[in-house]
Parts: sequence; structure tokens; C-alpha cells
Amino acid sequence: MATKRLARRLGLARSSGRARSGGRPAAGQRFGYLIVLDFEATCWRDGRRRGPEIVEFPAVLLNTSTGEIESEFHTYVQPQEHPILSEFCTELTGITQDQVDEGVPLNICLSQFMKWIQKMQKEKKIIFTTDVQSNATPEAKACTFVTWTDWDLGVCLQYECKRKQLRKPDILNSWIDLKATYRAFYNRKPKGLSGALQDLGIAFAGREHSGLDDSRNTARLAWRLICDGCVLKVTKSLDKVSNYFVSSLPLAL
Ligand code: AMP
Ligand code: MG
Ligand code: MG
Repeated sequence: MATKRLARRLGLARSSGRARSGGRPAAGQRFGYLIVLDFEATCWRDGRRRGPEIVEFPAVLLNTSTGEIESEFHTYVQPQEHPILSEFCTELTGITQDQVDEGVPLNICLSQFMKWIQKMQKEKKIIFTTDVQSNATPEAKACTFVTWTDWDLGVCLQYECKRKQLRKPDILNSWIDLKATYRAFYNRKPKGLSGALQDLGIAFAGREHSGLDDSRNTARLAWRLICDGCVLKVTKSLDKVSNYFVSSLPLAL
């Protein structure tokens, strides 16, 4: 019994009532593809209350049948309210002043991101939805977003778009919070993304607080949850409309 409990704590066994899949993804995943996002934003050591502005905007497309990352989007973003990065921000994220100076403003970044989304939608036959049952067909694969916590889409992008009066793409109104999913599935509170991976015997690959590396590692963690039999579901929705077709969204933001 104690061994079982320890194994469960280490993520080697699943919580009671759920069968382990033996390393293969469980059938019945709602989403054929997931887009994992992890933003980096302006920050200061003193933690004074200033609205964070996104400085790195990465996204990776995970195939939930194979565990492969099939495409990536990545851009650095110029902060405009506080254009000079703090030393603390560069130390934390590894992002330099030159990288953001050569980046694009957030409205352009969102426009480029939506072009990538539309390309993926065409190439992979993806539909964006929070409720797969009604839309998924053998030809079309359902897709949604995944983040570690609700901060990226529920706080950072949400309030930056409000402050700057930018139109936030509607597809970014719902997502899977992988931290909440992890907590519920393994019945334990993870110590950050790297702690969550470590508890499962997975080493964080690359640099923590690099948006792209954080996204790739979050995708690896999502894949592990899938392999352990977790059926990933949308955990947060900011609006009442449940189905989105990107082709019907305007590109101009
Ligand atoms: P993360 O995805 O954990 O790298 O964090 C996303 C953003 O949250 C960072 O780019 C920072 O703006 C902010 N952040 C993360 N950790 C800290 C910290 N220890 N102090 C201040 N801001 C932080
Ligand atoms: Mg993050
Ligand atoms: Mg990060």
C-alpha cells in the first residue's frame, strides 16, 4: 500500500479509479491537436504594479496521437508602455533589449499569429472548439489552447489588449489550464512547471522562463498526461460561445 502511495506521489501510478495506459495515449481524447502557449512579459524585481506587456509570444502545435510537435510559431514583441527591459527581466527570461527592439508591436504579432493559425487550420484540418462532440468529424480534428495556469490568456493578454484597445482573437477566449488539470489528475500540487515535470521523472529541457522552451516543456507534460490516461478538457472559457471557426474570423485586428 505504501509503495503504491509513493508511486502515486512520484507520478508512476495514477490516482484511484483510473487505469494507466502503459505509455500509450488513451483513446477518446477530445482534441486531436493542442496549441501550447507561454508568454514572457515585462517585469521588475521590486514587483511594483505595472501592467505586464508581452515580450515573447511562442506557440507549439502538439499532435495528441503521436506526441510530436508539428509546427511552432515564435516572435519577440516590442513593449510600448515600458520599452526598456529591466535587468531583472533579461536575467529572468534571457530576452535582450536588442531582441525586443527587433520584435514587432503586439497588434502585428497577433496578426502574424492568426495567419499561422489559419495555415495550421488548412494544413492539419483543424477546427477550434471547446466542445468537440458537436464538431469533430473523421476529417476535421478539434483543437484548443493549453497554458500553464490561467495567467497567459486570462490575465496577461486579456488586460494588455484592453489597455491598448486591441482586438483579442476570439479563439483565445478558452483554454486548458494544465496546472489545474495536473493537480486534479495526479491529486497533488506541483511546484511550478519544472517541478511538475520533475515529479514525473522528466527533466526540464532548455531554459526555464524562455517562452519557447516553457511552451515545448508544457507540451511534453501534456503528452505525459495523455499517456497516463488523462482526457484533456477545456478548463476556462471567457465567453458563452462554445464553437469557433477561424476561417470566419477577421484577420485585421
Ligand atoms: P514564466 O512563464 O514562468 O516564465 O513567467 C511568465 C512571466 O511572468 C515572466 O516573463 C515575468 O513577466 C513574470 N514572472 C515570472 N516569474 C517571475 C518572478 N519571479 N518575478 C517577477 N515576475 C515573474
Ligand atoms: Mg508561463
Ligand atoms: Mg515562461
